[in-house]
Amino acid sequence: MQLINLHTHRVKNDGEIQIQNLFAQDLSHTKPDFLFSAGLHPWHIEKVNPEECFEAIERASDLENMLAVGECGLDRSISTDFSLQEHCFKKQIQIAVNKNKPLIIHCVRAYSDLEKLKKETKSDIPWIIHGYQGNLETTQSLIRHGFYFSVGESLLKNDSRQKILRLIPLERLFLETDDRDLSIQQVYLMAAQMLILDERILGKVIFNNFRTLFGAVQLNL
Ligand SMILES: [Zn+2]
Repeated sequence: MQLINLHTHRVKNDGEIQIQNLFAQDLSHTKPDFLFSAGLHPWHIEKVNPEECFEAIERASDLENMLAVGECGLDRSISTDFSLQEHCFKKQIQIAVNKNKPLIIHCVRAYSDLEKLKKETKSDIPWIIHGYQGNLETTQSLIRHGFYFSVGESLLKNDSRQKILRLIPLERLFLETDDRDLSIQQVYLMAAQMLILDERILGKVIFNNFRTLFGAVQLNL
């Protein structure tokens, strides 16, 4: 069974299944023949033409191998106007809803804004927060709001976060390498130890989560 890497910025040929992140502004000069997600990252909003990005994401989302819209989202730690960030995020939520694809979300200090938006849009698509690092209360609240969580090294290397990881229902959990230079096998090992769970069982659970959210038929899994 192959391990699922929900979000990576690096091309890795480790035989596992990975969703490679592509930035919307790069879509015009790539023809991805691999599984990918594409979005306008909040950090890039002021450096690109957002409208062109939305068009590129919309075009790419007709491809079967584009599995999700994102990473996109909200970040209160940067100077980019927050209402502009919300505007860009809403545009991408709309594309994801129209094309029936999950969202891969970047969120920094904006969890309550995220919950508000999810409530407002009443969408059926999965909202997956990647690089998740929220605290205990935030995690409880996000679980109640139906979010999915993708966890990487930054949460797993910190023993004090064990409670948080164990709070997340297994059927809402994914693992990722993001932009880090480590293997997805290492991430699964760290998570399995923290969860006090057999690595193979964890692998199976996340594989099933992947099939449930992204569809088994198209992927021939
Ligand atoms: Zn990322």
